[in-house]
Amino acid sequence: MNKWILWLQILFLALFFVLLFAGKPMLWLLLFVISFGGAFFFGRFYCGVICPMNTLMRPVSWLGKKPGLKTNRVPAWLKSKWLSWSVLLFLAVVMILSRTVLMKDLPMLLVLLVVSVLFALRYEEWVFHNHVCPFGTLLRISGKNPVRSTRVEEDRCVACKKCEVVCPSAAIVVDKQRNTAEIDYSICLQCAKCITVCPVSALSYGKVQR
Ligand code: SF4
Ligand code: SF4
Repeated sequence: MNKWILWLQILFLALFFVLLFAGKPMLWLLLFVISFGGAFFFGRFYCGVICPMNTLMRPVSWLGKKPGLKTNRVPAWLKSKWLSWSVLLFLAVVMILSRTVLMKDLPMLLVLLVVSVLFALRYEEWVFHNHVCPFGTLLRISGKNPVRSTRVEEDRCVACKKCEVVCPSAAIVVDKQRNTAEIDYSICLQCAKCITVCPVSALSYGKVQR
């Protein structure tokens, strides 16, 4: 992995806990709102660089493989397109009610973090990223057609599928007919893992040609 991304992930993970324990979760949500806008231009960098859930899910997912906890069988309800919207609605209602009725912030971000870690123990990471995460639900909208993103130089690609294997969100797939990798920008986390493994430097981050 790009070492700069790793350092940034650690930095943002520390910031997340500092804000949470200082009772300032709204500042984290402000960071998310800024990232939501930024995704129109730079893709979902919040997911790949800033998100504490993604940062923790990777090592936990690796651990999940050890005792055989992980399964490839994902129940149909988990793949429902309404699930992540329902989670988003539930989270928003609880946060608003806790502020207005209880006059305090319930630790919903921490709850979500624990849920993401449990998912990473049981399922491949894309299940949480693409079907459960409420932040991802919103970022799929603003990150759908970014000005800049991880992109494929199709005439360089040799269709080796190494990128497919490392992608945590199943955003990059080799099209057998065209014999080249293709990225679904709406679910690309901009984590740069595919860039690191490509043997022919067919992947890079930059302006998307349309
Ligand atoms: S396509 Fe590449 S940058 Fe995007 S999520 Fe997959 S591995 Fe990360
Ligand atoms: S790793 Fe590179 S060469 Fe291999 S399929 Fe992906 S983009 Fe193509």
